[in-house]
Amino acid sequence: MYNHLGNVKQCKTLIKHGLIKVNGLVETDAKRKITEDDCIEYQNRILNSQPFTYIMLNKTQGYICANKDEKEKCVIDLIEEKDCFCLGRLDRDTTGLLLLTNDKSLKKLLLPQNHVDKVYLVEAKRRLSKKDKEIFARGIVIDENIQCLPAKMDIIDDYWCYVTIQEGKYHQIKKMFLSLNNEVVSLKRISFDQIQLDSSLKEGNYRFLTKEERNKLI
Ligand code: URA
Repeated sequence: MYNHLGNVKQCKTLIKHGLIKVNGLVETDAKRKITEDDCIEYQNRILNSQPFTYIMLNKTQGYICANKDEKEKCVIDLIEEKDCFCLGRLDRDTTGLLLLTNDKSLKKLLLPQNHVDKVYLVEAKRRLSKKDKEIFARGIVIDENIQCLPAKMDIIDDYWCYVTIQEGKYHQIKKMFLSLNNEVVSLKRISFDQIQLDSSLKEGNYRFLTKEERNKLI
């Protein structure tokens, strides 16, 4: 606490006079150990707040990844922090992990040359085969002439698999399956970089990233 308020003596004086709040309550114990998650307040000012916001949303269907739209429902409507932007996009009907932040430096994670893994759980319309896995691994062509980077397919059963990609072309997974003469029935992102979707988050709900998760991204 001392770093934020001055030296030990000054800090003790402020606490003695009831001028410091920790997590919204007046603090009386000058020896209290403060962690990064505690919120220290002095004269209505938060002294140790995080400069940026990092949010994990379990996106639900029916929302587009935007902050404003004339006709469509936007993911920003699902969160209270209105100054955040989406780190990458998911289609309206895609569910799962969407990170939102106001830390513009994280836009670097969206560049294909940075090879950030994004893992999707895919349900396919037609049976999957080992050959599909090989085609993805070589790098499939979508839209007739757009070459994708090699992607990983982990087959779960006849119709379900995990697909890992390192880029984010428009409707990429759906187009990759169309190029296999297959179709995506449902699509859910389960990880982005080293961040896994929190399985306790219901669709449409969000939470702030933990310190450990933030450190993995920054
Ligand atoms: N690929 C798609 O086709 N859609 C998404 O939402 C994400 C990846």
